[in-house]
Amino acid sequence: MSEDYESLRERMVAAQIEGRGIRDPRVLGAMRKVPRHVFVPNEMKSCAYADEPLPIGQGQTISQPYIVAYMTEVLELSGGEKVLEVGTGSGYQTAILAEVAAEVWTVEIYEALSIGARARLEALGYENIRYRVGDGSRGWPEAGPFDAIMVTAAPGAVPAALEAQLAVSGRMIIPVGVNSQELILVQRKKASFRRDSLIGVRFVPLISKRMDGGND
Ligand code: SAM
Repeated sequence: MSEDYESLRERMVAAQIEGRGIRDPRVLGAMRKVPRHVFVPNEMKSCAYADEPLPIGQGQTISQPYIVAYMTEVLELSGGEKVLEVGTGSGYQTAILAEVAAEVWTVEIYEALSIGARARLEALGYENIRYRVGDGSRGWPEAGPFDAIMVTAAPGAVPAALEAQLAVSGRMIIPVGVNSQELILVQRKKASFRRDSLIGVRFVPLISKRMDGGND
């Protein structure tokens, strides 16, 4: 069965990732290595390498493989970076980041998702990840600044706290918007921020403490 998953993963990378223009060899290597089927619920394992997001519980999703690769490539990581991830979810994107950066600090608002992701990532042997349960729109102030930030749920606007925790020359990728969303690349240049809209996307909303009734 594990051989089947390996060939499904290879086909996924060839058709969905390389086939759509992802070129960073480190991102391609991570997508080839990380066993996506470990991060999806048992009843969804047969769809683990399909070209779509999948439900992971709590009304949340594991993102489509292409979007995971695209958002990782845009961060232009070379291996030594400290990265903040907002929205741990299943932990799949966390694993991809842990493959291509030095340290990943990941925040998830649902405790059950964070616990599940941590168990999977520890079982796979990742030792360069720190976990927190809470509202990631506030970032992780005492651990910043971060060379890169990835947000995998969509706020209405880029949270100021996240921009403030971006290192000079740092890059943040974040979906923004309520009805229609765009992926925004934020680049910090000393005191100013450049914001570029890249592609249209559809993510679950970033839950604010107010919407969630206080889950911090
Ligand atoms: N990257 C994840 C993966 O690979 O499975 C998918 C993330 S899913 C699209 C978005 C995640 O963001 C969900 O797990 C959701 O619970 C989480 N989330 C939503 N609002 C949040 C917040 N304010 N702080 C932290 N996590 C949040």
